[in-house]
Amino acid sequence: MVSTGSQTVLVAGGGIGGIATANRLRRRLDRRHRVVLINRDPDFTFAASYLWVMTGARRPAQITRPLRRLERRGIEVVIGDVTDIDPATRTVTVGDQRLTGDHLVVSLGADWATDRIPGLAEHGQTFATLGGAERLAGELRRVETGRIVVVTAAPLYKCPAAPYEAALLIEAGLRARGVRSSVEVAVRSAEPAPMPVAGADVSAAVTMLLAQRNIDYQPGRQITAVEPGSLQFGDTNERADLVVYMPPIVAPPAIANSALAADDGWIHADRSTLATAFPGVYAIGDNTHIVLGIGKPLPRAGVFAHGQAHVVADTISASISGAPTPTGFDGHGGCFIETGDGRAAYGAGNFYGDPAPTVALHDPGRRWHWGKVAFEQQVMRRWL
Ligand SMILES: Cc1cc2nc3c(=O)[nH]c(=O)nc-3n(C[C@H](O)[C@H](O)[C@H](O)COP(=O)(O)OP(=O)(O)OC[C@H]3O[C@@H](n4cnc5c(N)ncnc54)[C@H](O)[C@@H]3O)c2cc1C
Repeated sequence: MVSTGSQTVLVAGGGIGGIATANRLRRRLDRRHRVVLINRDPDFTFAASYLWVMTGARRPAQITRPLRRLERRGIEVVIGDVTDIDPATRTVTVGDQRLTGDHLVVSLGADWATDRIPGLAEHGQTFATLGGAERLAGELRRVETGRIVVVTAAPLYKCPAAPYEAALLIEAGLRARGVRSSVEVAVRSAEPAPMPVAGADVSAAVTMLLAQRNIDYQPGRQITAVEPGSLQFGDTNERADLVVYMPPIVAPPAIANSALAADDGWIHADRSTLATAFPGVYAIGDNTHIVLGIGKPLPRAGVFAHGQAHVVADTISASISGAPTPTGFDGHGGCFIETGDGRAAYGAGNFYGDPAPTVALHDPGRRWHWGKVAFEQQVMRRWL
């Protein structure tokens, strides 16, 4: 159906998915139509660069931009907490405002569930938040001896590559400071292998990268508690002078408490169209739970939020202009894994592959590191 009047698109969430959606809609829709982006924090920060904050290669200001900059392009920005979503009427409650759209895109990400593991927040350090990465950078600069253990605190977390990347970068940093021989580096993962959704070859290649750098890796180890100087895994414990963690995640309450949520709290959107059960309501990025043919969920990664954002923005603009509906999201994506020394590996492929994802990991090289830098620069300079 072609619309002749003004339409409003609400985009809930101003992270990777929300910004990519709003920008693309703004480019495609004429100014009669409103694009309204809602986000809790006034600033966007680029999570993929937090690991460079951890290593000291970036200052927080370099990867932070005010969301209000989107207003220069004609995107309306509302800063506030979404407390309720009524998908039947496409209404979002933000403080004392109730905003209703003709179309609604939900991209509220995933919340941290750090408190699921007793002692984790108190005695551990994380690279998963900007403030955490800054504090961890200070801790790492002081390490001269001892044992650093990087843990994934649950099998489900954001960016499956990030904890392995963190361990490799920490190892390289210790080497650069000449203290590597007196510091042990270990990884304990709750999942059965590194990046298991990407397949056995990728898992084996990442395991090899860790082994080559003498990083002691043990999969299938779910931590149950953290105490000063030690990590608990059920009945056993291990010494850890510095615990570095990737937190578990949970669906944001505004979603889990809404009619959009499945029993697990996440939105089970259509894997191709990202449509929900409610007309005109789409969900993209980390707040969706898309189960692949292998029975495991599509990883929570910005590359997928970005690809899905384009599909949804194109679908909405086509529905307004009467253009043909675009092809759906095809499950392709890739991610860089920084390995230190100015190099990165690159894993990419089709996560919707049938019967299983077909993903390959390219060996570490300078070009992949510069590829990650180039993408960061594109986001920081062109997106906002
Ligand atoms: C350390 C780290 C490294 C990573 N590296 C990579 C990488 O190299 N490549 C990659 O592809 N992915 C990476 N990721 C994952 C990537 O950052 C996420 O998958 C991506 O940001 C998801 O986009 P999103 O839009 O779904 O959610 P987000 O980007 O998290 O955005 C959600 C937004 O919603 C806001 N919000 C939440 N609840 C509310 C509410 N109630 N009211 C208002 N606003 C709300 C949040 O403040 C946030 O701005 C990394 C993640 C981390 C933590």
